[in-house]
Amino acid sequence: MKLQLLSLALITTAGMTAATISSPDSKLVVTTDLSGGKPVYSVSYDGKPIIMESPLGFDTNIGDFTKGLTLVGEKTGVVNKSFEQGKIKKSHIDYNANQLIAEYKNAKGQKMSIEWLVSDNDIAFRYLIPAEGDTRSLIIEKEATGYRFPDFTTTFLTPQSDAMIGWKRTKPSYEEHYKADAKMDEPSQYGHGYTFPALFHVGDNGWALLTETGVDGYFCGSRLSDYTDGVYTIAYPMPEENNGNGSANPAIGLPGKTPWRTITVGSTLKPIVETTIPWNVVEPLYTATEPVKPGRGTWSWILWQDPSINYDDQIKYIDFAAAMGYENVLIDNWWDTNIGKDGIAKLARYAQSKGVNLLIWYSSSGWWNDIEQGPTNIMSRPIPRKEEFKWLQSLGIKGIKVDFFGGDKQETMRLYEDILSDANDYGISVIFHGCTMPRGWERMYPNYVGSEAVLASENLVFGQNFCDNAAFNASLHPFIRNAAGCMEFGGTVLNHRLNRGNDGGTTRATSDAFELATAILFQNPVQNFALAPNNLTDAPEAAIEFMKAVPTTWNETVFIDGYPGKYVILARRHADKWYIAGVSANKEPLKLKLDLPMLQKDQMVTVYAEDGKKPLEAKELKIKKPESVAMELNNNGGFIIVADAK
Ligand code: CA
Repeated sequence: MKLQLLSLALITTAGMTAATISSPDSKLVVTTDLSGGKPVYSVSYDGKPIIMESPLGFDTNIGDFTKGLTLVGEKTGVVNKSFEQGKIKKSHIDYNANQLIAEYKNAKGQKMSIEWLVSDNDIAFRYLIPAEGDTRSLIIEKEATGYRFPDFTTTFLTPQSDAMIGWKRTKPSYEEHYKADAKMDEPSQYGHGYTFPALFHVGDNGWALLTETGVDGYFCGSRLSDYTDGVYTIAYPMPEENNGNGSANPAIGLPGKTPWRTITVGSTLKPIVETTIPWNVVEPLYTATEPVKPGRGTWSWILWQDPSINYDDQIKYIDFAAAMGYENVLIDNWWDTNIGKDGIAKLARYAQSKGVNLLIWYSSSGWWNDIEQGPTNIMSRPIPRKEEFKWLQSLGIKGIKVDFFGGDKQETMRLYEDILSDANDYGISVIFHGCTMPRGWERMYPNYVGSEAVLASENLVFGQNFCDNAAFNASLHPFIRNAAGCMEFGGTVLNHRLNRGNDGGTTRATSDAFELATAILFQNPVQNFALAPNNLTDAPEAAIEFMKAVPTTWNETVFIDGYPGKYVILARRHADKWYIAGVSANKEPLKLKLDLPMLQKDQMVTVYAEDGKKPLEAKELKIKKPESVAMELNNNGGFIIVADAK
């Protein structure tokens, strides 16, 4: 890891208000200015406007930094950084950005700086607040930071829900529907704006993905307001979140800073899908006590539901995981009542004898929802939490899933961080469900291995409508939710009916090849697939063989083709193999000519696809023209090409 600040030159700014900062390739340009004492910025790409003049600044309990500002000085520099990261879409990252720090003074003479980092397709910016006088803390009452897109822009957004609604009053939990290509002035479903990440199609000018990173226990998670007076503004949590516990506004110790807000920009969707900005501008906050083992697993709860949380059914799933060569089995809610600690100890020993690790479920609560599924009241406070981790460690259990958090308040961010930090002391890695989206956490917290924060596979069981819309959702995530953070979806269903007997409940609408493709498209370092023991005999043999060998970590991710909500094709490389995967929600079959630069002329590859109504097969194919590989993609269908890397 190398962090270099090559030059930090102070520019004299007497009488100046404007400054421009460009990416190393000069295509992405941020212009900052003061408009009547109010800080503003705009963004263009390749000479075309992406974000029009938009507000910056924030108002605090000690002073207002939204107006009456003068520019005190500016420093420019360069950030060049290289690092390895095993849990995201890419393993080696080179980050090269130009830096601008603009320092302002408000009417009371209080100072604040805005730091900008602009790389070829990404902008990251944050506010820096010094300690002055006797003041060592402040509360941000309102942030002015906004995003004003050209009026022809369309949106791909998911709304923030009301607080304290839904299952056992657990929302908001980033489990809402997306609208594709919506107009900006369409009101949000609940009237509380939208959660990050947020994708905008700025017509022919390009695309922009907004999110934030570096959020830890020192700040709340933020979101976008509704579109008001032509602008989306940063909004903080609602006071009702987390059962009203904890303040809605962030409090900062001084000197202090806000999280990075990021804008990924491109003329195509390629930079959106491939961005690593959430990880480029953060650093690990501690060292892992145990190396995190990415891995595949399965879990009885997804298809067999609550009645399967018993000793005998868990043995069946451990045997199934062993037969698949999988590393993990997740034991979901109610194990405390239905299996008990002695039973878990026996299961852990049995699993270890089969080369399988257990992941164990907990509720985060607590006094912030009505969850009764146990165990509760363990992860909420450090004393029982650390006792529990000591017990898990004594059994050799190295992973937990913690569910049902209380929103985005700073207090809740502190709970996420506390759980991660305590778990790390006992060599335990952590998956979050019923939760917020990660904000740089793959890099910040070495034992963090995934978040739900999406309408995940459980909804396939809960409602037919979700099965019918699975392809639409799958065609969105690589461009939005999963572009900004790992996504523990729990997918790849090979049952045709989503119940224990594969004979009732909801009906899967997607093909087997589609399901295999999502194992590649949905990125999370720990995958809990929605497979069942019966799939060993009732699923196509090629599908099972593929799922036995599928990796969960990636050296490279390359966008090939697609449009959010319609279809998506990505190539991901694991070691010496490329996996090129596509799915489609397009009503008509798509006849595509794919440019696959990772393949060579006359290379033999393996294609997993359906041929009409025939079951999925693995077929060998010779690539004639890598720059134009014909592929037909049906509605609710998919394909995968597996090829040796050059
Ligand atoms: Ca959930």
